[in-house]
Amino acid sequence: MIKYFINIVAGAISLMKGLFVTFKNLFSKAVTVQYPTQKLQMTERYRGLVDLRIEKCIKCYMCVKICPTACLALAHKETAEKKKEFVYFKYNMELCCFCGLCDQVCPTQAIYLNQIYEIAVYGRDKLRDIDLLNTEKYGEWAHPTVK
Ligand code: SF4
Ligand code: SF4
Repeated sequence: MIKYFINIVAGAISLMKGLFVTFKNLFSKAVTVQYPTQKLQMTERYRGLVDLRIEKCIKCYMCVKICPTACLALAHKETAEKKKEFVYFKYNMELCCFCGLCDQVCPTQAIYLNQIYEIAVYGRDKLRDIDLLNTEKYGEWAHPTVK
C-alpha cells in the first residue's frame, strides 16, 4: 500500500519536472530557424566551396600541389613585361574533400573556402570545371543572410 502512494508521488514529481522544462523553454528565444525561408550565416572557419581572391594570387601553384584529390587546375603565361597572367584556374568540386589544405598553404590568402553550404545540384556537370576566375561562379548558390 505504501509503495502504491510512493509511486504516485514519484510520478507527480516526474510530471512536474517535465512540465517545468516545457514552460522554461516555452518563453525562451528559439534556437532554430525557419529553413529554407530563413538561413544562417556560417562561421568564418566554415569550409564551404573553394573560392579565390583573384588579385591576391601570385600563381605559385602551392594549392595545386598540396590538393590531395587533384581538383584544382591552374595554368598561367608570362607576358612580354615578365608578368604572370592566368590562362585558367579551375576547380572540380566533385572531387573536393573540403580539407582546407589549399587555404592553409596559400602564402597570400588568395584561395579560401567560403561560407556557402547549399551546394546540391541537379547535374554533376555543374560541379566540374568551376571557373575560379569568374566572380559570378557561385551566384546561383549564394543566398542572403537572415540574422
Ligand atoms: S579543400 Fe582540399 S580537396 Fe578541396 S581544393 Fe582545397 S586542398 Fe583540394
Ligand atoms: S597557393 Fe594561393 S597564391 Fe599560390 S597559386 Fe594557389 S591561390 Fe594562387
